[in-house]
Amino acid sequence: MRVEVLVVGAGLAGSVAARSLAEMGKKVLVIERARHVAGHCHDYLNDAGITIHSYGPHIFHTKEKAVWDFVKRFSDFSTYQHRVLSYAEGRLFPFPINRDTICQAFGLELDVNQAADFLKAEAGKAGLSGSPKTYQEAVISQVGQRFYDLFFKNYTAKQWGRDPQTLSPDLASRIPVRSNRDDRYFSDSYQGMPLPGYTRMVEKVLDHENISLMLGSDYFSLKEGIEAGLVVYTGELDRYFDYRFGELEYRSLDLEYKTLDQERYQEAAVVNYPNDYDWTRITEFKLLTGEKSAKTTICLEYPKAKGEPYYIVPDQANARKRDLYLAEVEKLERSGSHLFIGRLAQYAYYNMDQVIKAARDKVLARFPA
Ligand code: FAD
Ligand code: UDP
Repeated sequence: MRVEVLVVGAGLAGSVAARSLAEMGKKVLVIERARHVAGHCHDYLNDAGITIHSYGPHIFHTKEKAVWDFVKRFSDFSTYQHRVLSYAEGRLFPFPINRDTICQAFGLELDVNQAADFLKAEAGKAGLSGSPKTYQEAVISQVGQRFYDLFFKNYTAKQWGRDPQTLSPDLASRIPVRSNRDDRYFSDSYQGMPLPGYTRMVEKVLDHENISLMLGSDYFSLKEGIEAGLVVYTGELDRYFDYRFGELEYRSLDLEYKTLDQERYQEAAVVNYPNDYDWTRITEFKLLTGEKSAKTTICLEYPKAKGEPYYIVPDQANARKRDLYLAEVEKLERSGSHLFIGRLAQYAYYNMDQVIKAARDKVLARFPA
């Protein structure tokens, strides 16, 4: 079979790339190994009338107006703003750290300026200087040892299965630290949940006369039989190159879903458990969507080393291997035959909006207007 463009994967990266290419008049075949589209942001309505995220909780947020304008072409969005509580020392704290978290943890009454000074003093006690070299140093230099121990140290060890001193300092930039009373998880200007959900949104992205879709089809079983002018690859980076430089680590999760005969389970859509239990967090889905039901569905996340690749692992050993693979990617991309896009294919800890931006940018760079 000969195709103009072959897109491997119908997650956000593959779907957005396919749409951008289709709108340029190119004929695109998308092949997806799963039996559904949307990749890791797949969702569905369960028997209790609640939208469930099949691969853990997904909240859309972005600073990029162009990305927001793009997704709004394919879905309506609620005005949901994500808020999280953290269960530590037998109590629930607002998380990420804000003025109220500081006051609650230290039993203080502080205004915004005093809270900022307090955090600075806490961070200063650690005596760190220069740019942080590890995740642990990055967090302690922002919030100090007590908060690190209370909220970050054990959650991080549980999530990644390794000592936080071995993880990249960049990981710390995912969680904001505030001295005001803003208790939202994300500071981005554009936030919300797609209505009725991500799967429907991705189906609409793929709904174009120039796009055909094959589900349940693994690229590596079919590739000998397909000749493509351009391959857009969104699967695991190391697998594409047959593990030439060794395996990259992907962290996985066991997700335990429970539908309970009660209207409400917890006080926030997500509660994090840094220090207690084997799970990292519990999500109550109806609180993300505002759906009404006499029942409620929750999801507990248990991190594990092997299985479905959910996360890249942000440490030095993997970063070194990633660079070797990305040098090969660059050669293929420069030749014009391939694009590697997305969380798995770029081995980057991307949020959904970053994946969409990367897909649009890479397609545009390959075919400038
Ligand atoms: P994927 O969604 O993994 O899609 C890749 C697709 O390619 C998959 O469907 C896969 O089956 C297919 N594929 C792979 N190999 C092959 C092959 N050989 N042949 C055919 N098909 C193949 N982001 C946010 O913005 N907000 C959040 O709140 C958020 N929460 C998250 C929570 C969890 C637990 C996880 C794991 C991620 C979360 N994310 C969140 C990140 C988000 O899921 C990703 O950024 C995004 O879905 C990645 O899209 P992708 O297309 O790059 O990869
Ligand atoms: N983190 C933490 N405590 C928390 C929440 C997050 O230590 O209560 C750290 C942890 O290392 C985690 C990282 O911050 O992996 C990023 O958290 P985020 O909530 O962004 O993770 P994701 O939603 O991608 O699983």
